[in-house]
Amino acid sequence: MTVADATAVRPRVHSLGYLGLTSTDLDGWRTFATDIAGMAISDTSSENELRLRIDEYQWRISVTPGDGSVAFVGWEVAGKAALDAIVADLTAAGVAVEEDSKLAQERGVLELVRSEDPAGNQIEFFYGPITESKPFVSPQGVEFVTGEQGLGHVVLATPSAEETERFYVDLLGFRVSDRVNLGPVVAMFAYVNPRHHSLAVVQAPERLLHHFMLEVTSLDEVGLALDRSLASNAHQPATGLGKHTNDQAVSFYLTTPSECRVEYGWAGRQLDLDLNPSTTVVYTGGSIWGHKSV
Ligand code: FE
Repeated sequence: MTVADATAVRPRVHSLGYLGLTSTDLDGWRTFATDIAGMAISDTSSENELRLRIDEYQWRISVTPGDGSVAFVGWEVAGKAALDAIVADLTAAGVAVEEDSKLAQERGVLELVRSEDPAGNQIEFFYGPITESKPFVSPQGVEFVTGEQGLGHVVLATPSAEETERFYVDLLGFRVSDRVNLGPVVAMFAYVNPRHHSLAVVQAPERLLHHFMLEVTSLDEVGLALDRSLASNAHQPATGLGKHTNDQAVSFYLTTPSECRVEYGWAGRQLDLDLNPSTTVVYTGGSIWGHKSV
């Protein structure tokens, strides 16, 4: 099957479920998450793991001590049948995949399998996340867009972009949304639910999580986060406001106490999984306006 044919396949993955980061500065993360980004500390946090809430899920982002690189990316699937189908597909393709009930318990999900993508990222597929009956209350009054669109999106940089694309698109059924010409490289954006992209893959000399994105429900929440960032000493914005060409989100980027940035955005375009696009648009740049480095 080629990448183009994959548009006929229903994605195996439901959404971006959770994200594991490492950092040399957990205290910095705590302040950044609550005071700037408006996330809440999860009750499931421990001394060695900061867990952050943005919705009813017990946690969506985990930060543990380390060098700042990404620790794991969790993809949520609808249930056991979808998980079994992924295991079968990966196994048939010769990709090692391992059920891990101990890790499932740690993460707070019913069942989980872990594997590695061709970029070398630990990826986990799971279903049945534990949700809190206590409602999510943002310390900054922020409401995040999650639900069927999941946590947000991740942009993976890798020396093996083509192989990584084949893995997510051909094997796992991610749909190519479009591509963006970033000068020396063309980034691939892919979706598994109405969110314009849950994943982007871009060729780079080294593996890294370039950024992840959180979406909020209003432009004011983006502007207020930018104001909080500008008023802080430690957590200045990495860019100014801008609007992306492909998903049309209005956003800005923040430097996190990990190596990745976080994109804080609003009004990302939604795609229809039933439309089955047969062509792929390439944009000549990432932003219509803005996103200038500061
Ligand atoms: Fe982004």
